[in-house]
This record gives sequence, structure tokens and C-alpha cells, in this order.
Amino acid sequence: MKNFGPFDSYADALKAACPLILSKPNATVGHLQDSNPELATRVATEYCAWLYYTPEHTYEMSMLTDLSKPDDLVTHRKSCILPTFVSDSRYERGELKYIFALHNHPFGSVLSPLDLHFIEEKASTHDWEIKLQKGKVRLATIAFFSKSKNPTLPTCDGFYQYVPATREIMTWTQTQGQWDRTEYGVVRWLDDGTYRIDKR
Ligand SMILES: [Zn+2]
Repeated sequence: MKNFGPFDSYADALKAACPLILSKPNATVGHLQDSNPELATRVATEYCAWLYYTPEHTYEMSMLTDLSKPDDLVTHRKSCILPTFVSDSRYERGELKYIFALHNHPFGSVLSPLDLHFIEEKASTHDWEIKLQKGKVRLATIAFFSKSKNPTLPTCDGFYQYVPATREIMTWTQTQGQWDRTEYGVVRWLDDGTYRIDKR
């Protein structure tokens, strides 16, 4: 699989990436959750990719990976491992700006502690805020979800977003091609490893 894009705006890129990621095998398992929860847990697969900004002022999505950490013994979650840097032979490493760490949540759950730790860690390598040709955008992790119970129709229903720069978690839902934003909460880091979420 190769890179996906280019897009003129990150909103367009998200609109295209969401159904693309959710249509991958077992990227959403809502249809199995009631009928066969064990199977749902076993097959659920996370896919991840970077959405990045190029010197040509376009937005691209890196190759999708489903490389996962060994099963977590407690939760049986398989979390996708996203490399720190994308490989795009057209550009030098420093020329690319990292915007969103994209992935899917097969059960449609909210962001996990692992997700928050992951992007906080990447925020030490990548800029927290990226200057665009027009305006700016903040580094974030994003988890797409589908509420569909039909395995052949994995609708893109929205995503959860966490922004390290502001510590905000937001829920975005899609209605008629528009993203509607709801505040979910603010993350208070108590130390490097623990936090609580102050719900809005
Ligand atoms: Zn996640």
C-alpha cells in the first residue's frame, strides 16, 4: 500500500481517511459485539497512519500499518504501532510536518491511556503546533469509529481527538459531510504516567 493523497486541506484528508481506514478487514466489529464477543475481540484490528503536511502545502496520509503489539493480557486489545517518522522518498525527513496520528477503534471506544501516552511521547519529537500556509493546526491523535452493525457497510460516524498542546479531548461526529465538535473533557496529567479526565 502506498501513501494516500494529496489533499488540499486536512478536513478533506480526514473525510477521505475515515471511510478508508474503517473499511479495512475487521477495522470495526460492531456487528459481532452482541452475537459473538469473543470473536469480535479476537479479530478486531487497528490500523494506523500519519496525516502529514508537505512543503507543497498538501496533506498526505502515510502507508497504513496494522503491526500491533502483542496482546495485552488483561484487555486483549491489539494496538497498532505507528512509527515516529513516515518514509516518503520525495522529501527529507525534516521537511515533513506531522499533524494527526490516525487510527480506528474497532469497538468505537474512547481514546485509551495508551493513545494519550503515545501522542504525548510523539509531542517530544514533533511540533505541538504546525504552521500551515494559512493558519495553524495542532498535533493530535485521532481514533475513527463506526456505529454500523453491518460488516459490509462500515460507515464513518466520527472520531475522538486528543490535542497535547491544549490537553483537550473532543468528539467529532459526522452528519451530512460536516464535522460537529463536542467537548469530551480535559486531561490533567498528575505525573508522567497518570492522569484524570475532567469531563465537560
Ligand atoms: Zn486507540
